[in-house]
Amino acid sequence: MTDNNSRNADLCISREDFRKTGYYLIDKLADFYGNIADNPVTSGETPNQIREVLGSDALPENGQSVDAIFERTVDLLFKHSLFNGHPKFFGYITSSPAPIGSLADLLAAAINPNVGANILSPMATAIEKQTVKWLAEFIGVPASYGGILVSGGNMANLTAFLAARTAKAPKNIKEEGLINAGKEMLFYCSKATHTWIEKAAVLFGHGTNAIRWIPVDNNNKMDTHALEQQIEKDIKDKKQPFLVIANAGDVSTGVVDNLSEIAAICKRHDLWFHVDGAYGIPAAVVPHYASLFEGIKEADSIALDPHKWLYAPLEAGCTLVKNPQHLPDTYSSHPVYYNFDGSAEEPSTNYYEYGFQNSRGFRALKVWAALQQVGKNGYIKMIDEDIELSKYLFSEAQKHPELEAVTQNLSITTLRFIPTHDEQSGMSREDYLNSINEKLLNKLQQGGKVFLSNAIIGGKYCLRACIVNFRTSRKDINEVIDIIIKEGRSVCEE
Ligand SMILES: *Cc1c(COP(=O)(O)O)cnc(C)c1O
Repeated sequence: MTDNNSRNADLCISREDFRKTGYYLIDKLADFYGNIADNPVTSGETPNQIREVLGSDALPENGQSVDAIFERTVDLLFKHSLFNGHPKFFGYITSSPAPIGSLADLLAAAINPNVGANILSPMATAIEKQTVKWLAEFIGVPASYGGILVSGGNMANLTAFLAARTAKAPKNIKEEGLINAGKEMLFYCSKATHTWIEKAAVLFGHGTNAIRWIPVDNNNKMDTHALEQQIEKDIKDKKQPFLVIANAGDVSTGVVDNLSEIAAICKRHDLWFHVDGAYGIPAAVVPHYASLFEGIKEADSIALDPHKWLYAPLEAGCTLVKNPQHLPDTYSSHPVYYNFDGSAEEPSTNYYEYGFQNSRGFRALKVWAALQQVGKNGYIKMIDEDIELSKYLFSEAQKHPELEAVTQNLSITTLRFIPTHDEQSGMSREDYLNSINEKLLNKLQQGGKVFLSNAIIGGKYCLRACIVNFRTSRKDINEVIDIIIKEGRSVCEE
């Protein structure tokens, strides 16, 4: 029963208890960040081992103390996680999270604005708008680009894909649908494009046959001559090309396509030009790398991922669109049960009209806070240093007789271990090297001293280090090389 004056529901935490548990948690987190380099990158446990640690699956029937929950949770997570904040974490494209981002997420969750509608999130909507504007300026496109924060790179690309389709469809696709569009709609990207494009093809009803995979040249860039030939052939065959996707830092090796040339081809054929910069586009902020991204201002849409090279904690992606009206044109609807429009003099920006989500969290706050903590110049320094470290790893690998340096672009280096003498037992030398390096990668990933991922380059199984990590130093790179050599030798002996 509730009395008339105060309910005191079980989920409430008293002010004193909140303070106590909060301080406990913050103390633990301060130590966690402080000691992150001294602990393993990962516990390397199997899912079964983890399940055992987690214990009983029984649904709790009754409540227990908040202190006890956090004491146990902190223990579970600190001892049995993979820590991408570790200075030797170089796997996939996952950054070291900025501590200010974790504080911002706590604050965002406490205020809990629903950033789907302005009236439900007055300050949060304004902060998201400002963040989007800052991100556009940061990567060097006019602040007139608009957009929306989303959960990550996949969603940023998918959000842009549908805007492109709505804008370029031969008929009103929102009402007529794909079947009645008349011609088969096609889109173009290089072989190096991330898997989101396959999800888009399937989810949005085109089928994967609608993807025109354009070959890459010797530098792994989209072959723009082949692109234009394919477009012309498809037009001749009465198809409807509508979209070209360029990579600004491909997910595997960090190659930036020739954006200017692709933009010119799009212009000639009236196609939407989308740039997937989920990983690489923040490097455009560094003055001496800006020329790599020439042509970015021609992009009709851009995907970027603050949870990659802007070091935001997961999740934060962003879609930018040159003419932001294309987003509401694609996503807006006005149900009778919403009273969100604002006044005639001052119409509201309601983010539910700009993308897939309806109710939306306040993910802008962590991005906005970090941009203020270090400013554009702080980011220029960190991103430049990440690239320098990646180049350093490459050049050290070049010098080492037991390593082969394979590629280096932006902050991604690929390399492989080359034993000085081999016991290849009937295998070809290349097969032997591939099997050694695959075993080596698995050993390194479970060992907990360093975390690398892999890339297959021209048939070579490579170790891949992507440094989007403001905690990494030259000392870490030297140690990583020593670890690779030691473990590589041991794999060969097994
Ligand atoms: C990481 C990445 C993606 C996917 O981003 P998520 O944040 O993992 O969804 C898409 N494209 C490129 C080029 C990427 O690097």
